[in-house]
Amino acid sequence: MDLNVFKDITYGMYIVSTTKDQEKVGCIINTLTQITSKDSIVTISLNKDNYTNKILKETKKCAVAILSKETPRDVITKFGFFSSKDEDKFKDSIYQEDSGLPVVIDKICSYLIGDVLDIIDCNSHDIFVIKVIKTVKKEDLVPMTYKYYQDELKGKAPFKAPTYIEESKANTSSSCKYKCTVCGYIYDDAKEKVKFVDLPDDWKCPRCGVSKDKFVRL
Ligand code: FE
Repeated sequence: MDLNVFKDITYGMYIVSTTKDQEKVGCIINTLTQITSKDSIVTISLNKDNYTNKILKETKKCAVAILSKETPRDVITKFGFFSSKDEDKFKDSIYQEDSGLPVVIDKICSYLIGDVLDIIDCNSHDIFVIKVIKTVKKEDLVPMTYKYYQDELKGKAPFKAPTYIEESKANTSSSCKYKCTVCGYIYDDAKEKVKFVDLPDDWKCPRCGVSKDKFVRL
């Protein structure tokens, strides 16, 4: 089976959030699907290991923020690569309360509020069937797709600058790999034009946006 075919499926970028006993939790998802407009039902899927999954099973109500191309990358890093179990992601985030739920509103297009109707077990993930009870339009921005997120992050990487590549071409005598301890991204010197040690100090992980010091040599 050619697994690359799955890469042709398109996705958006969202933050699902809920709260229980003063604790606000939320995470990035890319799997939101509108099932029917007649009854305003959507589904989302969440990894069973995800702390937000655990809390959502208890609260059975959530908000889903629809991210835009303008949503800051550090918002995606915080909600996508860290766990609500370890830290309060909302502490330094731009959010508001609606229907008793925390909603990230940092350059988002809009958001939904909904109640969980059903939960379907799908091995590693659960599908939450959600009845949307409220929609709010926030800003007239272009929704972020998962592909845009990936492409845009790579586009911003300083090492892609043509002049920097030229300066470093002669510097590839030995190679090795470095791994991002936050998201698992591998920087392989053999596949890049610039060795990891030669990357500028302000270089960021192209996947999650953390700095160079979060990488370890393999
Ligand atoms: Fe990373």
